[in-house]
Amino acid sequence: MKCPTCDISFFPDLQFSAIGQNGKGHYVYVYYQMCPECNEPIIGIKEGAPSDNVEDIILLIICR
Ligand SMILES: [Zn+2]
Repeated sequence: MKCPTCDISFFPDLQFSAIGQNGKGHYVYVYYQMCPECNEPIIGIKEGAPSDNVEDIILLIICR
C-alpha cells in the first residue's frame, strides 16, 4: 500500500470502523492509520466486511 501524501510504500496496519449502509444495502467501512513515514493520515473506504485484503480499499485524497 502506498501513502497518497508522500508516495512511500508501507506495511498496512489499518484500523477500521463501520460508517453505515450505502444505497445497495452494503455496509461501508472507513480504514485509517497514520503514515509511518510522513505522519499524515491515510484514510480509505471499502464496501463489505473488513478483511486482510487491503488491495480493494479506495484511498481518499486530502484536499486543503
Ligand atoms: Zn506518507
